[in-house]
Amino acid sequence: MEKFDPATNLEKLDKKDAYRGVNPAICDSATFMFEHAKTMTDTFHGETEGYFLYSRHWNPSTLSLAQSLAAIEGTELAWPTGSGLAAITTALLHEVKAGDHIVSSMTVYGGTFAFLNNYIKKFNVEVTFVNMQNLDAVKKAIRPNTKVLYTETMNNPLLRIANIPELSKIAHAAGAKLLVDNTFTPMIFSPYRLGADVVLYSMTKYINGMNDCVAGAICGSAEYINSLIDVNNGTAMLLGPVLDTFRSTSIQKNLHTLHIRMKKHSENAMYLAKRFKETGIKYNYPGLPEHPDYELFKSMMNEGYGFGGMISIDMETAERASAIMEKMQELGVGYLAVSLGYFKTLFSNSGKSTSSEVPEDIQHEMGMSEGLIRFSMGLDNDPERTFQLIKQAIDATK
Ligand code: PLP
Repeated sequence: MEKFDPATNLEKLDKKDAYRGVNPAICDSATFMFEHAKTMTDTFHGETEGYFLYSRHWNPSTLSLAQSLAAIEGTELAWPTGSGLAAITTALLHEVKAGDHIVSSMTVYGGTFAFLNNYIKKFNVEVTFVNMQNLDAVKKAIRPNTKVLYTETMNNPLLRIANIPELSKIAHAAGAKLLVDNTFTPMIFSPYRLGADVVLYSMTKYINGMNDCVAGAICGSAEYINSLIDVNNGTAMLLGPVLDTFRSTSIQKNLHTLHIRMKKHSENAMYLAKRFKETGIKYNYPGLPEHPDYELFKSMMNEGYGFGGMISIDMETAERASAIMEKMQELGVGYLAVSLGYFKTLFSNSGKSTSSEVPEDIQHEMGMSEGLIRFSMGLDNDPERTFQLIKQAIDATK
């Protein structure tokens, strides 16, 4: 496949602010005026270009962010949302009607799992959860009424990689769409280019990287995004999970350091993985050949961004994991907090936090140990120091 560089693609985007500001102007307006009544009517029907109607639909600030996201993703367009879960639920609801069926990976973010396992039943939509690593099981789960195949590129918290090109073939052969949450691996993977129809993000994480807001994004073809914001039937337009314009603009600025942040997050996690390996600490990282998806990762990745900033260690029991996490916080490794993609290192016990919505039997089926500590490696300048502090915390609880 042709080489793709998300960061260079973003750099190439030539945006001129109306006032010659080097940063995009914030458009602080909920509604927009028209000189002629007919233009307003035409805009309602999606028949004009360059006009804005109302900020739940488009706003110059959200459009500008959307264009930058599309450049990174290699999609035609994107639509920013008020949270990652808003992006996911909006995109899922847009594809299904009562009586339809979804095939989802069983290892999805806890909130997504709760939505698919509990909430969407209200609309009489059935969901089958499968192990996405097992492509035969995925094929078997497909039914005539399957409309969506849903997965995360890198899953939470086991860091297994979904085979996007193969899943795309399976989905399309069944007349379904492949929806992919790429929150853990922006720039590293470009799922749309690998065959996904829609790419979803919690921008709360790496994309924004500052932990100062909650936000999400839906990326896809222009036709698809326009159908989402159709005034009569668009799920985004009618449920209204829009991102505020101030936030759109602040996130857009942070996109321009995303490539540097991703490289450093990856470099630090790789450093820890190698040190864990040397010292015999049970770890899980897709960047070393021991990981079952190492080759698959390499076959799908964009060059230069590494293997990601997520890494986990297995401390066998939840009690031991808790003691180590408290000690690591005390020693200054980072924070005992959910979420990821921050410049500080964050860690949590997945089974008791971000995956706690996933029932215990499924956690076992996923292969998740109750003592699993998931790290989102920060941008630490000296990863050896970080490793020494982690080791100190582990040794203190032996
Ligand atoms: N997708 C993944 C992989 C996540 O880790 C999260 C975390 O919260 C979400 C989606 C939901 O995003 P948000 O919290 O921005 O709604």
